[in-house]
Amino acid sequence: MPEWPEMEHYRKQLARMILNMPIRQVIVNRPKSLNVTEENFRQAVLGAAIRRVERRAKQLIFVLDTDKYLLLHLMLGGILFYGPEGERPNRSTQIELSFGDNRLYFIGLRLGYLHLFDRSGLEKELSGLGPDPFDAALSPDRFRSMLHGKKGTLKTTLTDQKWLAGIGNCYSDEICFAAGLLPTRGPGSLNQQEGQRLYTAMHGVLHEALAAGGYMEMPLFNGDKLTGSYNDLCKVYDRPGEPCVRCGQPIVFDKVSSRKCFYCTNCQT
Ligand SMILES: [Zn+2]
Repeated sequence: MPEWPEMEHYRKQLARMILNMPIRQVIVNRPKSLNVTEENFRQAVLGAAIRRVERRAKQLIFVLDTDKYLLLHLMLGGILFYGPEGERPNRSTQIELSFGDNRLYFIGLRLGYLHLFDRSGLEKELSGLGPDPFDAALSPDRFRSMLHGKKGTLKTTLTDQKWLAGIGNCYSDEICFAAGLLPTRGPGSLNQQEGQRLYTAMHGVLHEALAAGGYMEMPLFNGDKLTGSYNDLCKVYDRPGEPCVRCGQPIVFDKVSSRKCFYCTNCQT
């Protein structure tokens, strides 16, 4: 499932491609991906332009110039593609929005959705989320005190969207590896130095992954060489049995509270 770097990457890319152009056509192939009737969706979106693309947690918010909002959650398997009809990917689409000659294709939106909200509806929808990893108010001190009040493991903590919003299975493992901490550790067991290491690793890994275009498998547009480059840079996630980049010992695969988890038992304590 796309996480903070993938969605922030999409946000940055889309913000230079789709803003302030009226949406000329709306195709809905899967009405279940919406929260309103197809007709209401069409009415709200046709002719409107996207003023801004924002991100909250793993979701994108398309801010329309009509004071309506489209909230996109790709969940598992969802991807985006932008381009003219001639470059349409050979995949079934659930929704398409057309801007002039180009279209934004929503693909693999089976569990994911594109929901229409007004301001108060959107705020209500997002109200349960924890702070963003780069929230200005999330100082190292506050991060450490949040760890202290938390039960469970680092794995379940980092992926708890109510605690911290935007991190999932891949980056929780990468962050723990970068911090040299086992994802099975209890958050309250971290000393001050370890808490600081986790905070620094979180920022470092997310920034590095964003700079590399995240791990999505399909380019966002034709000629896009950046999207997905982080796939080759993952050090532990989905690399069971492969030698650890630091010490050479095989990476271990484990399940922590039914979540897939990968780590090095030698480099992480
Ligand atoms: Zn190692």
